Amino acid sequence: MVLSIFGKRIVVTGAGQGIGRALALRLSKFGGKVIAVSRTQKHLDTLFQEDPKIEIITADLADWESTRAAIEGAGRIDLLVNNAAAARLDRFLDVKPDDVDVLFNVNLKSVINVSQVAAKSMIATGNGGSIVNISSQASQAALKDHAVYCATKAALDQLTRVMALELGPHNIRVNAVNPTVVMTDMGRVGWNDPEKAASMTSKIPLGRFAEVDEVVDAVVYLLSNRSSMINGVTLPIDGGFLAT
Ligand code: NDP
Repeated sequence: MVLSIFGKRIVVTGAGQGIGRALALRLSKFGGKVIAVSRTQKHLDTLFQEDPKIEIITADLADWESTRAAIEGAGRIDLLVNNAAAARLDRFLDVKPDDVDVLFNVNLKSVINVSQVAAKSMIATGNGGSIVNISSQASQAALKDHAVYCATKAALDQLTRVMALELGPHNIRVNAVNPTVVMTDMGRVGWNDPEKAASMTSKIPLGRFAEVDEVVDAVVYLLSNRSSMINGVTLPIDGGFLAT
């Protein structure tokens, strides 16, 4: 299958760990020129050691100005994956203002910031492009202790649709993927407890969590020209959880 990834300049945010890291490595393997943007230098350093073809940029996406400068300095962008996110779990009654600020800054505001820069670059080349936002099943299902996280991902789904509407005429497609739990560092925070994990897997028709590679596969497809008529979707990768 020809994927049209080869030679493309691809920004992946949150590429230091977890899904973003696996995605950066896969896209580079397919011949993409990956620009990995993340917060912790040592995670990016080990990524670069693993694949020196990957360009690394250290940035805290919660900081609008420095992130803007860093992404503008990255040069031409053909494809973008907004993957970075923060999760803080608490009962609704205990949510703090700082939780709201941090989660909306990283999970939503930074997506607007990075996507503006990327979309302007895609428009300037005249070649269009593809943007994939990593949302979650939490955008559509209420998950206990996830009030703010759920709200950021619901907002991200709707942002995805408006971006698809406004950027479509520039031949830029914008889609989201909505995974169920994946046992990355973030996944372990919420679901390490076997009882809690079982309460979730029992609601997933396939009876298990998603693997990192299963998310990567869907993102690669949505970035590629194999999905050339798909725009504005929020694609569950959840073994049927949201269908029930
Ligand atoms: P991880 O926590 O494993 O990795 C997140 C990455 O994002 C890390 O590299 C982290 O940097 C980076 N990051 C976080 N905050 C910032 C910031 N302020 N600035 C720059 N980089 C930042 O998460 P996952 O791989 O599990 O999650 C990836 C995406 O998938 C997220 O959008 C998440 O919401 C979504 N998702 C995850 C699920 C799961 O169960 N794991 C389920 C559904 C969706 P650092 O190296 O400093 O930690």
